[in-house]
Amino acid sequence: MAIDRFGRNIHYLRVSLTDHCNLRCVYCMPEDQTFRPNAELMQDDEIFTLVRLFASLGFDKIRLTGGEPTVRADIVGLVRGIASTEGIRSLSMTTNGILLPRLARPLKDAGLQRVNVSIDTLDPQKFKRLTRWGKLEQVWEGIFAAEAAGLTPIKLNAVIVRGYNEEDVLDLAALTLERPWQIRFIEMMPFGGVTDLQTGGVVTAAQIQHKIESEFGLLRAEGGYDGEARMYRIRGAQGKVGFISSVTVPFCSACTRARLTADGVLRMCLLREKEIDLLTPLRSGATAADLRQMVLQAVWEKPWGHGLEDGVIPLNRAMNQIGG
Ligand code: SAM
Ligand code: SF4
Repeated sequence: MAIDRFGRNIHYLRVSLTDHCNLRCVYCMPEDQTFRPNAELMQDDEIFTLVRLFASLGFDKIRLTGGEPTVRADIVGLVRGIASTEGIRSLSMTTNGILLPRLARPLKDAGLQRVNVSIDTLDPQKFKRLTRWGKLEQVWEGIFAAEAAGLTPIKLNAVIVRGYNEEDVLDLAALTLERPWQIRFIEMMPFGGVTDLQTGGVVTAAQIQHKIESEFGLLRAEGGYDGEARMYRIRGAQGKVGFISSVTVPFCSACTRARLTADGVLRMCLLREKEIDLLTPLRSGATAADLRQMVLQAVWEKPWGHGLEDGVIPLNRAMNQIGG
């Protein structure tokens, strides 16, 4: 078991498979973002080695992310290898959904259990503006392909940005009326790259909840948290509405996660700059025992929480370079 100095059992690893993406969401990265050359990213065997290492330390839950994880070469083989690692109980992915029409079934067959699909609006024009060129219908097809393949329960992520999609909260929440989906509203967080938009455009979870309740009536609390999302239900709805209020009501005290970036660096807090490079030692011949010690030390030193309240913004990477 990997326990930090505050007694939290850290067992959830988010693995970024690439910083590349087929979209350029305005809140995630600048339009002219450059990506790392392939050689600087963890290769498949390196990912397997590190996943085995984490699993041996008690990490049992993995989420694949990016960048866009589905653009990674042989994503199906990677999923198969990770899913069959001893000790890995839960394997899910966060994706923009665009490539799911062709990949949902093979990913499910390879051992992926669930997906979270990001969809910030149901309006094709606004979707294009938010993603800089995305086509909404491709994401819709991806969501239905995921559902048909059994990558369920379907969870949708929506980042709400002032001046872009505040009004779309109602349409997104209304999706849960007829479908057993979760829609999770995420407060925008500040990182390097597009910091002005991120700090100026935050719509808080309380504001989003107020908007939904003005239209649909008081939300009913649904048994606390699902991961980092506080869960609710609109009266009579099949699905659930969640709020991820990382900025205004942080959930740091209950955080059990670590992040491995696509270039093999361990980040113990999404919103802190401190990083522990694992790939360089792995490539220079560090033993499994050395690497285990590095991970245990990093876990021990996991920060208590982020410093957004005190104005501390992590600027060393954009979101796509960390892995959301
Ligand atoms: N490309 C995939 C996707 O978009 O789902 C996975 C990677 S993306 C970085 C993971 C999640 O982070 C997405 O749900 C995205 O909306 C969210 N995200 C990106 N930038 C963010 C920001 N500045 N604040 C909050 N969430 C953000
Ligand atoms: Fe790509 Fe996801 Fe970032 Fe959008 S949020 S640019 S889809 S990595």
